[in-house]
Amino acid sequence: MGRAIGVLAMEHVAVAVVEGARIAGPVRFFPDKGDAADTLRDVPGEEIAESIRRQAQLAAEGAEVTALGVGVPGVILEGVVAESPNLQQLKGLDLQRILKAAFPAAAIRILNDADTVAAGIAATRGELDRLVRVWTLGTGVGFGRYPWQPGMWEGGHCVVTLDPKERFCGCGGVGHLEGIMGHRAMRLRFLDLEPEEVFENARQGDERCRDFARLWHRALAAATATSIHFDGPGKFYISGPNARFVDGALLNMFLHEMVKMSPLQGSFLEVLHTSDEVAIIGAAVSAARGA
Ligand SMILES: [Zn+2]
Repeated sequence: MGRAIGVLAMEHVAVAVVEGARIAGPVRFFPDKGDAADTLRDVPGEEIAESIRRQAQLAAEGAEVTALGVGVPGVILEGVVAESPNLQQLKGLDLQRILKAAFPAAAIRILNDADTVAAGIAATRGELDRLVRVWTLGTGVGFGRYPWQPGMWEGGHCVVTLDPKERFCGCGGVGHLEGIMGHRAMRLRFLDLEPEEVFENARQGDERCRDFARLWHRALAAATATSIHFDGPGKFYISGPNARFVDGALLNMFLHEMVKMSPLQGSFLEVLHTSDEVAIIGAAVSAARGA
């Protein structure tokens, strides 16, 4: 029987066989966790592609690979990594072509990592028949959508303020969501406080931090409202390490202030802690369903 394989290339290349909506067998990592140089940061792009190929081959254990999905941080255009701010050595890499040459019988799918998270949530929660959107809050801000549709979908960089002083986004753009919500951006804004301390101080009533916490939630509500006005209402998940800062009640209140037309009502926001496994499952499911 053929194998569907999911890959997430972020800190590591993480690879596993996926059956249905679950991981079957071990998750393989490159570089190995615990190695001296244990992240991909300094690994050349060609070598990352080769490790994906090799790990996928090992995971298949001699069986034919029928579907191979890969989640990569960045802008993916027809299987090519067009831009990857966090793994810059991947820029220009034609992963689709490289992996198709290695696995000619497989359906190959290269996706933005947030899209694999959205697909993984849809698969593991039985929502493959629905529109699932996810915000991933980490160093930057990702936006994932299932089902996948062609487009740029750089939701983390949508403009949520016209204040020209808002220029902390990693991409350099002014007024972006990531420039308010991204971990890196928060550290640039509060040079004297870590993001954890900002939210803790906000709870204690510190005025500057409380104002920022409200801005942070309003920014996410604004970006969600924009998605609703373009793409309709529905379910939004919030995941990633900084989802822990989300106050769901505050976020929903701001969202309701921003979305008033009746056909656009009925969206729902949920904080969901996802693991790498969810993205691996989403990558494999996307490749298998695209076949
Ligand atoms: Zn930006």
